[in-house]
Amino acid sequence: MFDFKAFAEDYGIAVSSEHHHSTHGWVQVEYCPNCHSHSYRLGYNPKSHTFNCWKCGVITFWFALQELSGLSSSDLAKALKEYKTGDIDIDAVRHSKNVASIVYPNNLKNLKKSHKRYLNERNFNAEEIEFLYDIKSTGHDCEKQWQHRIVIPVKQKGKVVTLQGRAVGDKSPKYYNLPENKSVVDLKNTLYGFDYVSGNRVIVVEGVFDMWRLGFGTVATYGVQYTSAQIKMLLRFDRVYVLYDLDDSDAIERAKKLVGTINAHGKYGKVLQFDFDGDPAEFNQDQVNYVRRYLYEKKKKTDRKSKDQKSKITL
Ligand SMILES: [Zn+2]
Repeated sequence: MFDFKAFAEDYGIAVSSEHHHSTHGWVQVEYCPNCHSHSYRLGYNPKSHTFNCWKCGVITFWFALQELSGLSSSDLAKALKEYKTGDIDIDAVRHSKNVASIVYPNNLKNLKKSHKRYLNERNFNAEEIEFLYDIKSTGHDCEKQWQHRIVIPVKQKGKVVTLQGRAVGDKSPKYYNLPENKSVVDLKNTLYGFDYVSGNRVIVVEGVFDMWRLGFGTVATYGVQYTSAQIKMLLRFDRVYVLYDLDDSDAIERAKKLVGTINAHGKYGKVLQFDFDGDPAEFNQDQVNYVRRYLYEKKKKTDRKSKDQKSKITL
């Protein structure tokens, strides 16, 4: 999807896969733009598109790439196109609907300015979201239900299997899902973000915007009415954390019910509740980092010590 190593090489960013800080599959980056250290503390996980500094924690994708490359946000968006694969080919979709195995709305467009503005107003970086999730737009020139929506592709193993259309503003209905007969897989039989979960832990949220806010490692059930197909997918993980809207008592009840089902299948599940409230899509970066701790194994101090001792011995 994104060739970070090639990008790093072209933009003079020092990286290494052999550095002693590197964990399998991660690319270590010499400079951390957050703590300004030059000691390969920063790592990039190509599967989950996550930058993590072992001193600072998670660094947001767009911030890291902007700081490392020195490019402005819009220049970065342009530059990254060259290093990306797997995006929807709008021209191919327009000229021959058969190239895709789902039926796209007519006259699909790149993300429109008004939709970018909407996302920026919601405190997302529209260019980052567009790059990471391949979202598109519709205008007036398409089927009525699809008009003026943000088009969100749902992928399985890199392939688009269905779409969700999100209205902006007060337009109703808020969501229009590609009907089952035009999809490869019905939306409610997928988990949004499932492709990008790299570990054996997962955080379950209600909607796509929640998933975007919390980042990779999170999956959305498209509302609190989860399905048995979704439960089946969740049972592949060792630990399932459910974070439905914290200020909605019905949502919390559904979260508890989901965890009960996970537990009944002999798997670990937990409802996440914090001393802050609200819709995860509105969380600030500190709250996001706080929640994301659940995705990482806590390292016991004794483990770290014994590792240090080991590395001293080999040195
Ligand atoms: Zn750092």
